[in-house]
Amino acid sequence: MEIRANLHKTEEAIANACAKAGRNRGDVTLIAVSKTKPIDLLKEAYEGGARHFGENRVQELLTKIPLMPRDVKWHLIGHLQTNKVRQIIGKTCLIHSVDSLKLAGEIEKESGKQNLVTDILLEVNVACEESKFGFLLEEVEEALNAIKRFPHVRVLGLMTVAPFVEDAEKNRSVFRKLYEFYVDIKTKNIDNGSMTILSMGMTGDFCVAVEEGATMVRVGTGIFGAR
Ligand SMILES: *Cc1c(COP(=O)(O)O)cnc(C)c1O
Repeated sequence: MEIRANLHKTEEAIANACAKAGRNRGDVTLIAVSKTKPIDLLKEAYEGGARHFGENRVQELLTKIPLMPRDVKWHLIGHLQTNKVRQIIGKTCLIHSVDSLKLAGEIEKESGKQNLVTDILLEVNVACEESKFGFLLEEVEEALNAIKRFPHVRVLGLMTVAPFVEDAEKNRSVFRKLYEFYVDIKTKNIDNGSMTILSMGMTGDFCVAVEEGATMVRVGTGIFGAR
């Protein structure tokens, strides 16, 4: 019951942020981040209406997939090692955390073997944090130009994990910077107009992220409770 209430509150907060920013609620997808949580809680979220689920480990994702209804859309949001790529190809609706050309190349190779096209986002380390994975902003265009030659990988947009802050307002400039970059790179049309997703915002700051243009928010604690 608590999860339903949390989901409802999260939905309401997204709707309010959309209204505040003059955006349509339908333009923002909520991803319920279920990492470390038992399957019963995922089922509760599903019954409450959640269809997009995010996990950060390949093994955990693979374990949970057969235990959930078939119409769940699975997002891999955590750092992906190249040696795990083969196992995950064909299982996700979107891999958010592509943080190197080497990884994109491995996804291309394994997707090619299975005759699939894998949808990905490029993870961007907007705030240049030492501890974070991701391309620096100035590396993204070159990466896109390289990846567009891969026939089995489609870059649908950008993702960032903003710094951990107590006050979400402190991340507004990070979100705004990535949004502006995203708009700019879209106009360059490197990938034939397929850049349509901006994945940013977590429990602590998703409202600000939506106000600044996020099209996907990844909420874990706010739905499933503390980990
Ligand atoms: C865990 C995680 C989230 C969700 O974090 P919460 O603060 O619990 O909402 C979002 N994105 C990524 C990449 C994560 O690893």
